[in-house]
Amino acid sequence: MIFRDKVSLVTGASQGIGEAIAEELGLAGATVALVDIQKDKLNQVADRLASLGIRALTYEADVTDSVRAARVVDEVLSSLGRLDHLVNNAGITRDSLLLRMKEEDWDLVLRVNLKGAFNFSRAALKPMFTARYGRIVNIASVVGLMGNFGQTNYAASKAGLIGFSKSLAREVAARGITVNCVAPGYIATPMTENLPEEVKKAFLDIIPMKRFGLPADVARAVKFLCSDEAAYITGQVINVNGGMYM
Ligand code: NDP
Repeated sequence: MIFRDKVSLVTGASQGIGEAIAEELGLAGATVALVDIQKDKLNQVADRLASLGIRALTYEADVTDSVRAARVVDEVLSSLGRLDHLVNNAGITRDSLLLRMKEEDWDLVLRVNLKGAFNFSRAALKPMFTARYGRIVNIASVVGLMGNFGQTNYAASKAGLIGFSKSLAREVAARGITVNCVAPGYIATPMTENLPEEVKKAFLDIIPMKRFGLPADVARAVKFLCSDEAAYITGQVINVNGGMYM
């Protein structure tokens, strides 16, 4: 139980990769604060995690709302007394060719994927500064590194998240706080399950391991970055992509 007595906050925790991260950290002993936009789904995940022996609390929040983000962190501190790990995982896509992209789809993707991480990081840093300890892990994407047809908004948000993480890592390193990214490749989750079959096949063709990743593949990398084993790793991007981008 490497995270006994630790508290982990995971955004976008009610399905897919975020749910798997919460489970992985919880099974390692952490109490998990689950943040997501829909209360019902959050409660179902909390019940499932409780059945595995994990202590999980739920916080309904839209990550784009900075006031709510600060309140969630305050509520976590008053209920659980500390905050050790922040995983900025909530993310969305609104794909379209740039020429046809609606301004609101550009803005929304940037607000959720990038500003959401800003909101929660800024709020979480206060208790981490006081404790002189903290782990922030931002879920980027292979698309932020290599680009992707029809995803200028999403790629910009994920590349932005990498630049954000490297800059913040420099600002807080001397306080015992690390900031890293995990960049998943194609992971089988609700976000990807509705892609057309030909798109899925095109991805499989460029994945040397010839399989899609699982949420648990990503969750294990996050667990490592939150652990003491990763104490001297900051400002890095760990790729979890089956070799799709090297
Ligand atoms: P999912 O869509 O399955 O899950 C994302 C979760 O975030 C959902 O529960 C969603 O809620 C929630 N969410 C969306 N908007 C907000 C918001 N404004 N505030 C709070 N919660 C919100 O995605 P994945 O699990 O696939 O992806 C998780 C992360 O991993 C994302 O950042 C994604 O970009 C990244 N990623 C995923 C890859 C993949 O192949 N799946 C590849 C590379 C990166 P709701 O469903 O109600 O909208």
